[in-house]
Amino acid sequence: EPSEAPKAGLLSRLMGRVAPAAAPRRVLDDAMLEQLEELLIASDMGVETALRVTANLAEGRMGKRLSSDEIKKLLATEIARIMEPVARPMPLMPQRPQVVLVVGVNGSGKTTTIGKLASQFRAAGKSVVIAAGDTFRAAAVEQLQVWGDRAGVPVMTAPEGSDPASLAFEAMTRAEAEGADLLLIDTAGRLQNRADLMEELAKIVRVIRKKDPSAPHNTLLVLDATTGQNALSQVEVFQKLADVSGLVMTKLDGTAKGGVLVALADRFGLPIHAIGVGEQIDDLDAFDPEEFAVALVG
Ligand code: GDP
Repeated sequence: EPSEAPKAGLLSRLMGRVAPAAAPRRVLDDAMLEQLEELLIASDMGVETALRVTANLAEGRMGKRLSSDEIKKLLATEIARIMEPVARPMPLMPQRPQVVLVVGVNGSGKTTTIGKLASQFRAAGKSVVIAAGDTFRAAAVEQLQVWGDRAGVPVMTAPEGSDPASLAFEAMTRAEAEGADLLLIDTAGRLQNRADLMEELAKIVRVIRKKDPSAPHNTLLVLDATTGQNALSQVEVFQKLADVSGLVMTKLDGTAKGGVLVALADRFGLPIHAIGVGEQIDDLDAFDPEEFAVALVG
């Protein structure tokens, strides 16, 4: 199935200015490197990563004459090199249920991603249970039920305002009783009160560990690509709140610059398990570093 490549946006559009296809070969000099750095920074890559990419590109090539295609290819190669180690699907484990805690700020795409994941796991023949752990947002619980119906997966809910940890415990009990392969637990994303959120997440972890000391087996952080550099601070915050084991980057179908993924990979090295490329149930793709790098550079 030809999945749509993540849209490259700004960087690929700007590349045309530095390396117009019709222009003659250009000498790789400091001025050109500076232009490339600015482009990379504009694509949300961040200063540090942009400098590393251009430094790697320049190595052994200063003073050489390069065509626009060669410049783009070199850039894509350097970007893919950073992305390759983090392009890893979520590992499946022997534990039953494999408990997947899904964290992230409200609006990042947690609910949607859980629905998409549930659907993919179902299609792979796995049995799945979802726990609607954001008990404070009635709308989120309703949305998750809609996604559960679409994916053909039961969604455990609790009355508005009730304790997410007891819901997680009940969901764990049910998933165990049914011999489910996976339990996907949605969580609250209110960063306004970090101490509360930290306690809430810690309590969920505590109660599920009463059932299985090795749980949660994965803690996925869902990030919205359109928030750009903000994604970096979200990783920092959530790493303090939970033991983040992997990332899902959503909304790469939009006008997101996408360069922030390179900064994330460079800075944190957390696996990118999947990318969201739309609002439909099948719009979750494996992360392909080369396809991404080529699309980013344009
Ligand atoms: P939550 O608050 O973190 O649970 O976020 P939701 O799952 O409710 O998503 C917030 C909005 O982003 C919804 O309108 C979703 O349809 C939309 N959304 C989620 N993932 C994607 C994606 O990959 N691409 C696009 N275009 N929209 C997405």
